[in-house]
Amino acid sequence: MILKFFDWSRANSPWGVHFCSGCCSLEVLALMSPRFDWERYGFMMAPSPRQADFIIVTGLVSKKVLPVLLRVYQQMPEPRYVLGMGACAAGGGPYWDSDFVAVDVSQYIPFDVFVAGCPPNPEATLEGFLKLKEIIMRDRENAAKKYPNRMEDISY
Ligand code: SF4
Repeated sequence: MILKFFDWSRANSPWGVHFCSGCCSLEVLALMSPRFDWERYGFMMAPSPRQADFIIVTGLVSKKVLPVLLRVYQQMPEPRYVLGMGACAAGGGPYWDSDFVAVDVSQYIPFDVFVAGCPPNPEATLEGFLKLKEIIMRDRENAAKKYPNRMEDISY
């Protein structure tokens, strides 16, 4: 019962880490602007990963940056949630044949919500965040089980 109360509280004011690895990041900044104003839905940036409920993976993640992303994710308390954005995060996008891009980031970090596009527009991204609130409210057990921890598989 108490866990349900925690989930309800977190879903109504989720704190996040914005992992700005690609140009999709600009669309998240648009959500913070007065036009879209995501704080009216309770979203806020956390001061550190240790206080965060979710992380936003914005587009391109290079092989060099991937271990940093996983390290930040590992520092977050469980249950932790991930919102992925953009064609780059799903399959490399315009850089699909690059040797330096971590194609399909979801093999390393589980996406709870994915917003497609290059970049996704702010309306679609906001819809993704509202979906994330629903998942935080009811998906605690799944969130704890999904992380594959493939840190040692990463080669430079
Ligand atoms: S999906 Fe498009 S907008 Fe997003 S990081 Fe990749 S190239 Fe940039």
